[in-house]
Amino acid sequence: MATPGRECEVLVVGAGPVGLMLAGELRLAGVEVAVVDRLPAPTSESRASTLHARTMELLDNRGLLARFGTLPNDVMGHLSGIPLSLDLDTPYPGQWKVPQTRTEAILGEWAGDLGAHVARSRELVGLTERAGTVEAVVTGPAGTATVRARYVVGCDGEDSTVRRLAGIDFPGHGTAREMIRADVAGIDIPNRRFQRLPAGLAIAARSRDGVTRVMVHVFDRRDTGRRDAPDFAEVCADWQAVTGEDISGGTPLWVNAFGDACRLAARYRRGRVLLAGDAAHQQMPIGGQALNLGVHDAVNLGWKLAAVVRGRAPERLLETYHDERHAVAARVLTGIEAQAALLLGGPEVEPVREVLAELAAYEPVRRHLAATISGLDVRYGADRDDQPLLGGRLAPVALRTASGPTTSARLLRDGRGLLLIPASDDDRKARLVRAVHGWRDRVQAVPTEAAPGLPDPVLVRPDGHVAWTAPDGTAGLTEALERWFGPSAPDHLTEGTTMDRLAGKTALVTGASRGIGRAIAVRLAAEGALVAVHYTARADAAEEVVATIEKDGGRAFAVRAELGVSGDVHELFLALEEGLKERTGDTRLDILVNNAGQMGGVAPEETTSEQFDRLFAVNAKAPFFLIQRALRNLAAGGRIVNISSGLTRVANPSEIAYAMTKGAVEQLSLHFAKHLAPRGITVNSVAPGITRNGNPVFDIPEAVEQMAQLSAFQRVGEPEDVADVVAFLASPDGRWVTGAFLDATGGTLLG
Ligand code: NAP
Repeated sequence: MATPGRECEVLVVGAGPVGLMLAGELRLAGVEVAVVDRLPAPTSESRASTLHARTMELLDNRGLLARFGTLPNDVMGHLSGIPLSLDLDTPYPGQWKVPQTRTEAILGEWAGDLGAHVARSRELVGLTERAGTVEAVVTGPAGTATVRARYVVGCDGEDSTVRRLAGIDFPGHGTAREMIRADVAGIDIPNRRFQRLPAGLAIAARSRDGVTRVMVHVFDRRDTGRRDAPDFAEVCADWQAVTGEDISGGTPLWVNAFGDACRLAARYRRGRVLLAGDAAHQQMPIGGQALNLGVHDAVNLGWKLAAVVRGRAPERLLETYHDERHAVAARVLTGIEAQAALLLGGPEVEPVREVLAELAAYEPVRRHLAATISGLDVRYGADRDDQPLLGGRLAPVALRTASGPTTSARLLRDGRGLLLIPASDDDRKARLVRAVHGWRDRVQAVPTEAAPGLPDPVLVRPDGHVAWTAPDGTAGLTEALERWFGPSAPDHLTEGTTMDRLAGKTALVTGASRGIGRAIAVRLAAEGALVAVHYTARADAAEEVVATIEKDGGRAFAVRAELGVSGDVHELFLALEEGLKERTGDTRLDILVNNAGQMGGVAPEETTSEQFDRLFAVNAKAPFFLIQRALRNLAAGGRIVNISSGLTRVANPSEIAYAMTKGAVEQLSLHFAKHLAPRGITVNSVAPGITRNGNPVFDIPEAVEQMAQLSAFQRVGEPEDVADVVAFLASPDGRWVTGAFLDATGGTLLG
């Protein structure tokens, strides 16, 4: 598990309910996540205390409700103080009361159980995006550290540092009107639910422990310009002015003020920086919308970010996070603005309130308003009358599957997508199961008996929203799967083996058109990497390698550049970056294998200066400058493997110049290893012995027999023998090896 100070895949800034929910969602998908928070300990303030129906459903989808135990519920909500029943078609209608401290503790425990690490007393002070990484400068008790992450998510509240450092605009307006509130012990006043009096608005609610929460707003007060919390004397004075009651004999436990500020981030994403919760939207806390909206952001973002980080889905999936959640927040904020105007407005708003109260008595209007407040009416994307389920949430449904009774919530628990196939003819059922086969690592197909509320098969995203449904056939299913879950994976990647260690990674293998380079390219692609197959002369051979990789369900493209000539690195990177951008949306490179090389085969007496220079240019100079150039693209956790040779350890007079170049390659690995360790990049040399590479000499049995004697295993090496070693170094398993010389000679060097 990553700890701040080095590197992680996702850095979450802010350990409130939104940050912790997001951390849990990311861990569910196996993403390395670190959470930092400025506060030394969780806050003891309980700002938000209401969970709405949709939040309860989402918590149920993750099996979290049991941790909350039995919660008090009130099915009566309100619209700017006008009573409104929240009774709707959900197992969790109404408002569920739980202090924010408790919600935070439970989500923290869950995220922790899943392996998320929260580092407190850590403050973000800098944020810089470089190719494939965000560098976050974090100060803490032990000083300042740079955390390198693929993505940073600001869940750090309305004054978000992440938002400021990322330069994301936060348009809207500040506080014009405010309410002040206090938790007071030792007073005995009547409970008041939104009592509008001539001078202002008064709310009082006594809890079971005898503490009374009072909230008061004086109608004609505007723009207090407040920066600090009010003192208790101010609360008492306002309360007296509005209600005529004296509460100054009580003991204040907590006093604060909140205003009607309303702002919405212009973007929820800028490059590798994302915002969620109050960092993305500031609103007056009427009806506990802020916490709920923020948790919904986290659930919308978590699985998408995980899919992109894991390399299963393209970057553009993250754009749908902005599109979907920005639109939802804009609508919710409009509703809150309307409520704030009606709640804090003086006698002039009374007529509007009366008309609204009349309208809310009509069932369709009530349902509409209640669904908006409860977060149940969100529909992402298509608003199609012929497919009422599409885009909306799948209302929790009881199911009976081959393994017995269950619920849709339980089936969503592991954070994967779900294809529910209610009773349909066997042929369609089989076709649907087959259609989702290539995504079965990400989407679970579950045939069920007919279920009320589930007329047709539905593809459900991990956040519980319906991504596809159709009364018959499978039309559009593949498109929906690709859109939300990325391309289908070849069989060997969905069998639950370790063969997807490089999913989401990009690799460049030089000299990959044949021999050892070819085997390395094929192997890295089989592990899930997108591979750039470099060659110089034999385009047909390179294309054959790409075709072989694609036939097996992998991804690759060819790049041409002659190495050892002027402009070589530039030419190679032009083609490489173009190919990467086209396929991944950016130019991040995770793995560089410097494999291309030429042998000498000339006696020292006959080696010319030109031959010598050429060997050095191709074998030693090109790798140096390829690494130098790749530093712009290499992400944290990157890998560089330089192919050397056993001839740096065994003398062969006709290969002196060649062996000298390989000696240089080993120096390259050693020193770059030290240089790049702070970026989490490993650099190693792999030294093959005699390896079958398609050279005609390997067609001569006697020659092969003779060469085989050199290996302790009495055979010549196969390109795959070397490719496997490179794949290990390139994989997460190789993280602790850097600056090493790996003998891949089959024991030739044992003597
Ligand atoms: P190979 O079969 O000779 O293939 C060489 C590859 O490098 C080809 O893809 C070739 O591209 C490319 N290449 C050669 N010169 C290039 C240049 N100037 N610019 C761009 N690309 C160039 O090689 P191999 O035997 O598999 O060897 C791979 C690596 O392992 C080399 O570094 C070699 O020194 C090392 N090695 C090999 C052995 C062995 O026994 N095979 C032993 C020890 C070390 P084209 O196909 O387009 O020409």
